[in-house]
Amino acid sequence: MQYEANTLENHWLPFTSNRDFKQEPRLLVKGEGVYYWNHKGEKLLDGSSGLFCVAAGHARKEIAEAVGRQLLEMDYGPHFQVAHPSSFELARKVAALTPDGLDYVFFCNSGSESVDTAIKIALAYHRARNDGQRTRFVSRERAYHGVNIGGVSLAGMVRNRETFGAVMPGVVHMRHTWSPDARFTRGQPEKGAELADDLQRFVDLYGGSTIAACFVEPIAGSTGVLVPPKGYLERLRKICDAHGILLVFDEVICGFGRTGKAFAAQSFGVTPDMITMAKALTNGAQPMGAVAVSDKIYGTIVDSAPDHAVELFHGYTYSAHPAACAAGIAALTIYEKEGLFQRAAEMSPYFLDAVYSLKGIPAVTDIRGYGMLAGIDLATDGRPGVRGYDATKRLFAAGLHVKFTGDAGIIAPPFVAEKSHIDQMIDILRKVFSQY
Ligand code: PMP
Repeated sequence: MQYEANTLENHWLPFTSNRDFKQEPRLLVKGEGVYYWNHKGEKLLDGSSGLFCVAAGHARKEIAEAVGRQLLEMDYGPHFQVAHPSSFELARKVAALTPDGLDYVFFCNSGSESVDTAIKIALAYHRARNDGQRTRFVSRERAYHGVNIGGVSLAGMVRNRETFGAVMPGVVHMRHTWSPDARFTRGQPEKGAELADDLQRFVDLYGGSTIAACFVEPIAGSTGVLVPPKGYLERLRKICDAHGILLVFDEVICGFGRTGKAFAAQSFGVTPDMITMAKALTNGAQPMGAVAVSDKIYGTIVDSAPDHAVELFHGYTYSAHPAACAAGIAALTIYEKEGLFQRAAEMSPYFLDAVYSLKGIPAVTDIRGYGMLAGIDLATDGRPGVRGYDATKRLFAAGLHVKFTGDAGIIAPPFVAEKSHIDQMIDILRKVFSQY
């Protein structure tokens, strides 16, 4: 596909060095299976499932056809006081995958919206119980909860916060769970469960009855794959239960098989009160997010409203868009028919063996991994993030797309990847990382 450099001017790209990009564009023009093609016709392996979305591989015909059919039949209809039947079907399918007791699904359009929706549901739940003084939120350093004002306030990535200065008040951050002592641990670190007691410290400092909810990614994905220490999530659950604090798992990356089960909640055996999700919900083919909510939260909010009244004053023009529902139903059907969560679980040991074989390359200072998700830290060259950005470009030129955050590469192949694809990804990573 040809392009003229001057046609790239008007799009302000997100999370991108726009000036650099326009000098040296990296355009993805085709996707199929585990591959992308760039505008020069070169084929690249997709080492990050796009942005952790494309679990079943790119350009799945079943999804494209379902979306096309839906758009021709009923392109758009709102979900305020009316509805489209496909939204109920998708909600049923999602609820069948979430842990028992999380049976109600609220749809939105992205991971960021799912987080801000969950914040508002937490506030509404407490107010519905006449417990509305609970307005404080607890989250964590090195968390990513999207870019809307609620999510960015919860999140703990410095650039995403300092660029804007003002964020939502009343958010306090627990320490992150990365420890230099646990470098190159595969799976859950043995030590570190006591870091969950930071939540207890906030309870002691502010009073548990001021805290609405505690948000964590079971595995912090975007900040480099921080796997929770053994016992950590269990301890958070216990403290939340003791003080009436809602526990929210942000599973925008972990959800839909990335950890080998439908949700990380099931992989780690801890059930939260809400789960936020997006990305692989539609295999990335349509923008969509959702919040799965416990029966207790849904029942409390809905039952507290007067007869005939709207129960939750929240929603989006595109909540449960019919095309997104069609994509979601088709994606979840593929996951089920092809047993892709099981496949992720079975492929994980091979994938992690391959990733951990990069230990020993001088520039690789840590590797963390769980399921089909791994983070690889590169030694900084003294300017944080510069090497990671350089590595992104070198890997792209060598035929591999990988998402970097700072100097951490995040490897998350589609679940349909074969062992040979994983081998090729690792060969390219080895070649490029050995250049530093
Ligand atoms: N939460 C988490 C845990 C995420 O990883 C992301 C995206 N990487 C988001 C929220 C935001 O999702 P989106 O980019 O779809 O808004």
